[in-house]
Amino acid sequence: MRTVITADRLISPERSIANPVVVVEDGVITRMDSRASAELPTGKHLDFPGCTLVPAYFDVHIHGSAGHDVMEGTPQAFSTIGKFLAGHGVGAYLATTVTMPMDATLKSLAAMAGLIGRDIDGARPLGIHIEGPFLSPHKKGAHPARLLLTPSVELFDRMWQAAEGKIRLMTIAPELPNAEEVIAHATALGVRVSMGHSDADTAAARAGIRAGAVTATHTFNAMRQFDHRDPGLLGVVLTNDDLFAELICDGLHVHPNAVRIYWKSKGPERAMLITDAMTAAGMPDGNYMLGELDVRVVEGKCILDENTLAGSTLTLDRAVRNFAEFTGATIDDLSKLASRNPARMTGFEAEAGSLAIGRIADITVLSAKNEVVETILRGRNVVNV
Ligand SMILES: [Zn+2]
Repeated sequence: MRTVITADRLISPERSIANPVVVVEDGVITRMDSRASAELPTGKHLDFPGCTLVPAYFDVHIHGSAGHDVMEGTPQAFSTIGKFLAGHGVGAYLATTVTMPMDATLKSLAAMAGLIGRDIDGARPLGIHIEGPFLSPHKKGAHPARLLLTPSVELFDRMWQAAEGKIRLMTIAPELPNAEEVIAHATALGVRVSMGHSDADTAAARAGIRAGAVTATHTFNAMRQFDHRDPGLLGVVLTNDDLFAELICDGLHVHPNAVRIYWKSKGPERAMLITDAMTAAGMPDGNYMLGELDVRVVEGKCILDENTLAGSTLTLDRAVRNFAEFTGATIDDLSKLASRNPARMTGFEAEAGSLAIGRIADITVLSAKNEVVETILRGRNVVNV
């Protein structure tokens, strides 16, 4: 089946095409150019006047949404989350764990791995992000201190095997004993390593990078506070031009001025928007679970205690709009932050992050205000928001 998509503009995001025509056959883009005066090819025509086509978003840090947690590991949980995410412009994500007892984690990883690569409604989980258990008790956030563990290659391998090798990202505190060895071991297996939930000083952060770390987990949050005499991990994240860096841009986790510092430091090649969303995203205020912890959601804010936020109810389309509002970034750059950079960082460039001939047609249709008008996944499965 052939679908012909037209709009005002397309961002690939390497280039911009005015009056684009995108032809999709069997879920794959077979033509992508500017509309000539010639007639459109035959097929189902989807026209989006006044709209911009961008690569569907890719969230590398999301625990759940719409009443479900990815660690449930059921087809129902994944399809409910997938459909919810698709409604917010997301085409791909990394199913992200929270620290649980090891046997529960292994069970979850096995169940999640069985669903990755299967035909699932809406956004596709491309791999797993393990957030924990190798985190600092001083920066634990919503990870129970008693469940945090010292990094160990043996423990990592147990998780890797349970997950059938589908772990693509691991958050770890680089200052912990054996962290460098575990970072190097995971990196050798193709896992991207993210430094976070960490009290690392500058030397430990640099050692983490030398061992293989390529990115940072929710920059500013659950990180040693910046001190101008001892800038620590945050100083390294904001000054290392090679390091990618996640940001939760909900206006709650990070002050707009800190978002501006982040943008000036990381720029369009290394900044990455994530949601860190949990079960309560897309749900009414109330009480929800994140792993073993009770979380109270008040006006969309996920509260563990007075000083601790436990995930978010953010959606990536809103993160994009917030970031535009706080920094003035254009949609050309925003498209890099929400899809291309996550794809580059994780190495899923063939599956997500750009629009090109031969690529899967995962397209988000945006209004002039960057609101999601429609999400087209695999050229079909058109989701009306
Ligand atoms: Zn976290």
